[in-house]
Amino acid sequence: MSETQTVTEENLFMSQYLKGKKGLITGVANKRSIAWAIAQALTSHGAQLAFTYQGERLKESVEKLAAELPYKAPLYECDVTRDEQIKKVFEGLAHDFGQIDFLVHAVAYAKREDLDGRTVDTSRDGFALAMDISTYSLIALAKAAEPLFPKQGGSVVALTYLGSEKVVPFYNVMGLAKAGLESAVRYLAYDLGKKNIRVNGISAGPINTLAARGIAKFTTMLEGHRHRAALGRNVEVEEVGNAAFFLLSPLGSGVTGEVLYVDCGYRIMGF
Ligand code: NAD
Repeated sequence: MSETQTVTEENLFMSQYLKGKKGLITGVANKRSIAWAIAQALTSHGAQLAFTYQGERLKESVEKLAAELPYKAPLYECDVTRDEQIKKVFEGLAHDFGQIDFLVHAVAYAKREDLDGRTVDTSRDGFALAMDISTYSLIALAKAAEPLFPKQGGSVVALTYLGSEKVVPFYNVMGLAKAGLESAVRYLAYDLGKKNIRVNGISAGPINTLAARGIAKFTTMLEGHRHRAALGRNVEVEEVGNAAFFLLSPLGSGVTGEVLYVDCGYRIMGF
């Protein structure tokens, strides 16, 4: 598979599973973003998407990518720490799409110093910031999205990583945030399950993205994963896109509150 799959005539509308379905993708920063791979997979199955971008700094990059899509995708600014921006996003969606069928949460952040050092040295404000952006944002977005899901329900997917349940040096406070995120997936799945809104996580193996480059020794991590994974390789970003398609489409209709490991079988190994 190519490093960055682009939407071409051949892979466009691979299936019609998501024809007529609309959704919001958060977390696209550039063409390497996992959220962008998910967007491409969903588009190739007929979905129509809207995107958020974190701020002016990333606006142009997201605009350029969205322009590659075969439809005009609405774009909204959204720093997930700002309630008024979240509110505006969903007002925009109500206006542009009416309703949405799915939501992708692919947003995370921790201060560099909280990733480089020891977890025991994490500052109070560094902890709060990592939790706010990486964990609470799922709750805030899910709540804002709830009224826009149709009567028949919908689906939410959040991106997580193994550092939530196992110690991964240099993942530090982000591991704590991902543990909270995975717990939020279960609690939200329960709350929103009454409306047939499913909530799941995808625990992806390491992928070389902007966020990943904030983790010290990331290249060593990639190597370690490749050696240990049952499949003997690292995961391709397109494979995460395909897993998200499964969970967001009717194919995943019986699955909620789960974390799906798309890690080439790294997690199952003991030695
Ligand atoms: P990325 O840098 O492409 O995406 C991270 C996104 O978070 C960016 O778009 C950034 O703008 C956004 N973000 C950060 N702070 C924000 C804020 N305050 N408001 C709004 N958006 C904000 O990197 P990625 O690896 O594609 O990350 C996407 C998700 O996948 C993250 O949740 C990450 O933890 C998760 N993940 C990544 C890997 C990996 O190895 N790359 C593995 C497992 C899970």
